[in-house]
Amino acid sequence: MSTLPPCPACNSEYTYEDGTQLVCPECAHEWSATASEAPGDDAKVIKDSVGNVLQDGDTITVIKDLKVKGSSLVVKVGTKVKGIRLVDGDHDIDCKIDGIGAMKLKSEFVRKV
Ligand SMILES: [Zn+2]
Repeated sequence: MSTLPPCPACNSEYTYEDGTQLVCPECAHEWSATASEAPGDDAKVIKDSVGNVLQDGDTITVIKDLKVKGSSLVVKVGTKVKGIRLVDGDHDIDCKIDGIGAMKLKSEFVRKV
């Protein structure tokens, strides 16, 4: 017997699989089987270059010279950045750097302090 989760809408145990979807025959609710496998784990985990999990408010250092888009400024390797904020997107860290201002960084180019 497979162990399908009960219907999240009406709690029916008679759910069945239809491709990648789960379907409830009692209330006709359909949902994704993959999403229900990891309840409460929808928050994206952002890690630095060495695998430390980053959180809002962390202090990081830059591990590589980074050019600031649209200017001649460069964020030098070793630059310390306080109070980062994690965001969605290709550049997943929002922060403010002394002497440069607000900018976005990629987590792969930073290291938690
Ligand atoms: Zn249902």
